[in-house]
Amino acid sequence: MIRLKGVSKVFSNGLKALDTIELTIQKNEFVYLVGPSGAGKSTLLNLIFRADVPSTGDIIIDHFSLNNIRKSQVPYLRRSIGVVFQDFKLLPKRTVFENVAFALQFFNYSRARIRRQVTQVLELVGLEEKMRQLSSELSGGEQQRICIARAIVNNPPILLADEPTGNLDPDTSWDIMRLLSKINSRNTTVVVATHNEGIVNSIRKRVIALDNGKMIRDQELGVYTP
Ligand code: ADP
Repeated sequence: MIRLKGVSKVFSNGLKALDTIELTIQKNEFVYLVGPSGAGKSTLLNLIFRADVPSTGDIIIDHFSLNNIRKSQVPYLRRSIGVVFQDFKLLPKRTVFENVAFALQFFNYSRARIRRQVTQVLELVGLEEKMRQLSSELSGGEQQRICIARAIVNNPPILLADEPTGNLDPDTSWDIMRLLSKINSRNTTVVVATHNEGIVNSIRKRVIALDNGKMIRDQELGVYTP
């Protein structure tokens, strides 16, 4: 469960990127976050995985109040949240396998366990046959699949995706969004910031719309523009 209680974010230049957001996302929901550029979507996602902190208000992730979380607990929080970005942030000179295994480096897992988890997740995203190739040799859609695999390899209960199809062609975008939907159906809460109107209107899910830092709509099985 993700709950935002009166969350505002004012940057040091005085810009109010989020304005008193009240929002609850239940476990295993799939939510689209929509709104024009600058609406506050990335800021909201950044606050949820604590890349940044709210100016006022609190965020509750399961039993963690992010206002009260101890510094030593932050890594545990981060491990419960997978994140996917528009730009892939992959290690180009490493293989697909290594890029995904990298996410497990702090866990002290045995090599056998790492091999098992990475192989399983690469099967899930359809890249098991390319795991020995360098990530830079793969297409944009495949690279985004690596990022998704990396984000979910340790089975986090929450997956956040910030414009995951922003750099992809329409067909590939559909494949990626279907993959996120499949991951959601395997008991993962998924929050996707997107401008992809066609997909939002077709793969119908809850839609939360932001504009100018304010939440202006929260619609079950919503559409991109009402
Ligand atoms: P979106 O993801 O919907 O495009 P963002 O959350 O990236 O919107 O940005 C919301 C607003 O906050 C924008 O006006 C943006 O310019 C501003 N903003 C984002 N990050 C910072 C920052 N670090 N410092 C100042 N302003 C920022």
